[in-house]
Order: sequence, then structure tokens, then C-alpha cells
Amino acid sequence: MTKAMYSTVMLLSILYCFLSQVSPLPVKNSTGANEGKVRLKRKYSDEMPDYDDITAMDQILEVNRMFRAPRGLSFREGDIAVSHVRSAINCPGNACLWPKSVDGFVYVPYLLSPLYDDMDRITIETGMQDIATGTCVKFIPRTHEASFLDIQPRYGCWSFLGQTGGSQTLSLQTPGCMWSGVASHEFMHALGFVHEQSRSDRDHYVTIVWKNVMRDYMHNFRKQVTNNLNSPYDYNSVMHYGRYAFSEDGGPTIIPKPDPYIPIGQRDGPSALDLHKINVLYNCGAN
Ligand SMILES: [Zn+2]
Repeated sequence: MTKAMYSTVMLLSILYCFLSQVSPLPVKNSTGANEGKVRLKRKYSDEMPDYDDITAMDQILEVNRMFRAPRGLSFREGDIAVSHVRSAINCPGNACLWPKSVDGFVYVPYLLSPLYDDMDRITIETGMQDIATGTCVKFIPRTHEASFLDIQPRYGCWSFLGQTGGSQTLSLQTPGCMWSGVASHEFMHALGFVHEQSRSDRDHYVTIVWKNVMRDYMHNFRKQVTNNLNSPYDYNSVMHYGRYAFSEDGGPTIIPKPDPYIPIGQRDGPSALDLHKINVLYNCGAN
């Protein structure tokens, strides 16, 4: 390569890098036509999400995109089941918490559908283990307990909020929901947690970009009256929506503040703060 050619190539590379950085919060769009373009842009910008950045919630919304709520149920925030007969949203006197045993542990009995294969079972049990390690919550196979999680591969990834009493379905579709982080996310709903950006104090930490939210899904960004357990806002919570959740045209719907580049959400499993919050909510270590 001649020196002149080399300089030209260098110049073009620099120009390309510069151009590809112009849009600081680039769009994400999963529709075919734009996919190639988006992929290309992603490659050259540190900000763009790639596969490694898909959060548990992104995956849940992807799986749940097509499904219709089973009869008698509706869904809040994309994956929290609400029964038309009984609602666990309000938990007077913490009635929706799982009871604590005299030995200091909170036992959550579960049934695992025989439709799951060995790999599915390992994934789901890893999701349980990631919560159990570091909290006083223990998931135990149900023997005779009246209240328990009935874990089934129904359509979608979803759970009721807190303990509803009796048998409560928790759906982990296979293979879509077979990530241990997705399982942990749904188990945290079952323990009583809503999504992190639904916290009553979220406006101090994130901006909801309403103009980018699909009109029919704006209700999924409502703030909830939450007990924030004296815990800091957790951008890294497995319960956090991804940056592009319910996006109309691929623009971000949630921007952290003051630094818009703070990564939000993840799919590995409960964060240190998630575990801390479980410990506070269930008063672990009090015995
Ligand atoms: Zn959720």
C-alpha cells in the first residue's frame, strides 16, 4: 500500500468513526428493513445495545409480545398477572408476602411441570438458587403446602405479584423464558417486587421519554406506590426495563439521569441490591 493510499484509508476510517458517533442515543428497531442498518451502527458505537446487552425484561417482552392474556387475567407492565377475581396489588398488612418460618427462612414451595426437560429444570432452579444464595428465601418442592408456585410452560413469561394464596401459576414458556435471569425476574415478582423503574421515586433517576412510548402501552410506565425499603435506585436491577422497552419507533423510552449512558437492566440474575431488598422486605437475619 502506498503512503497516499494509506492516508486516504486512515482519513476515511476517521470520518466513518466520526459519522457513526453522531447520534448519541441511536434508535433500536427490530423490524426487518432497519435491522441491517441498526446492526451496522451498533458495531461502531459503544452505546448501542448488542446481544450482550439484552436485559431479562427485553427478553420477557419479546416472548410476551404475541400472546393474549388467558381468560380471567390481565397483565400489568408486560408480565405481572392480575386476576380479575382477586388482586394482589394491594397487600394490606403485607398479606402478599410469603410467611417466614420460625427457623428464619422464608420457604416458597413450588411445583415444576413435568413438561420441562432436564435443561429447563436446571435453568429454572438456577434462577431460584441465585435468589436463595444471599437471602433467607428458599424454594422447596411442594409436598402438602396450601400456597405454592405452580411453574408451567404456558404462553409467555409472567407471574402474579406476591403470594396470592393457594396455587398460583408462574409461567416460564420454553424455550423463550429459559434464562435463569428471566426465571429470577419472575420469582422476584412472586416475592412481591414490581419493576425497578415503577418505583415511586423513579423520576429522580430516569426520564421516561413519553413521545417514544407506544401509545397503547403508556400505562406500563405508571409509577406505583412502592415501599423502596430505604434502598438506592438500582439501574442494574434484574427488575429494570431495558432502555427501549415498549418503544414506538426504536427510540429510547427510558434515559437514566443525570448520566444517560449508565447501563440499565441486565439478564444475569438478581443484582447485589436486588438481594439486599429481598433481605430487607423479608426481614432476613432478624432471627
Ligand atoms: Zn417483570
